[in-house]
Amino acid sequence: MDDKPVAAQNGEVGKIAERVEILGVSMANLRQLLLQRLGIPERYRAEQIFRWLYAKQAISFGEMTDLPKSFIPKLEETFEIGRVILQHESLSVDGTRKFLFELSDGRSIETVLIPSEMRDAFGKARRRTLCVSTQVGCPLDCKFCATASMKLKRNLTTAEILLQILEVERLAKEDITNLVFMGMGEPLLNCDNVVEALRIITDPLTELVGKKRITISTSGLPDEIKRLANEGLDVKLALSLHATTNALRTTLMPINKRHPLEEVLSAMEEYYNATHIPITYEYILFDGLNDSEADIKRLAKITRRVPSKVNVIPFHPIDFTAPEGIAATLHAPSAAAFNSFIQRLKEAGVQVMVRSSSGKDIEAACGQLALAHADPAVLQANQKAIYSIRV
Ligand code: SF4
Repeated sequence: MDDKPVAAQNGEVGKIAERVEILGVSMANLRQLLLQRLGIPERYRAEQIFRWLYAKQAISFGEMTDLPKSFIPKLEETFEIGRVILQHESLSVDGTRKFLFELSDGRSIETVLIPSEMRDAFGKARRRTLCVSTQVGCPLDCKFCATASMKLKRNLTTAEILLQILEVERLAKEDITNLVFMGMGEPLLNCDNVVEALRIITDPLTELVGKKRITISTSGLPDEIKRLANEGLDVKLALSLHATTNALRTTLMPINKRHPLEEVLSAMEEYYNATHIPITYEYILFDGLNDSEADIKRLAKITRRVPSKVNVIPFHPIDFTAPEGIAATLHAPSAAAFNSFIQRLKEAGVQVMVRSSSGKDIEAACGQLALAHADPAVLQANQKAIYSIRV
């Protein structure tokens, strides 16, 4: 068992007054707390509480009707069940929903629910993918990303990562089928809390999302990639590649200066060798910047190192963040240029997927999360979404 104190694992915001934030506490630590603070030794009591919190999504201990009545006041004295508050919600013309949540310290994050186009017999989306945030803002300054304009405010606690799933399932009244850690922040800069959240999400007792349906997206932090390879979590890993030379990648993603391509690609190879899960390379296509014949050759060479595929994404505008320098010069290719790139990449033997631009009209697409709707002026100006409600 991890012997760090529970409050430390959850971060300073996770502990409110003298009570412990119970969301994000691992099964092992919950058992320890129940024993130490409430004198409850039975494992099955911890499992009951775990099921209530995640599978049945209780928001109060009073709802846990199969626990002895005498436990409830003790649980209420010892633990807190956190919430995030919905501040604003937007619905895209393509069905994507963007949620702006307020955290307990008043800061905000965005979470995006993307329904697949495939429908079942009842007209319900077959896949409902949630894009979760792991930090408030991000320190990495990728030039194509709106979140970078916020800088880093802080890491999310394990509870705050989990709460995005729980609150969206409550609001949407449907289960999330797939999870992508591609919202605000670099997940591997908040590795402890992300790993802890993943352990809870993939615990069968929580009935949340299976490991095969979870993808972590990283800008490429070699040490953390290697750590993740050995955690036994077996989730999919995607690398934000976006360039095939160190010179261009450093211009677009300054982190590449500290961790150049060769170092990052070796770490991805190590991840594959440890997990045997094919790698995904994310490749945002910029007009005239990373779409040459030479790029295709280098990209094909990279993908031959281990089984992998390339997700090609058209660049999404971030004008609403008033970009400067190279960020202001980035443009999406024309539809014809985009399709030609895809075709040539396939001809080079690369397995290619085209990532859709779901939620582009509500600034919910890849690279567009920047709390635009926390600002009432932006909110009022937003006429594009089907609805845009300040709660
Ligand atoms: S792309 Fe990801 S890592 Fe880069 S600044 Fe944006 S949130 Fe951070």
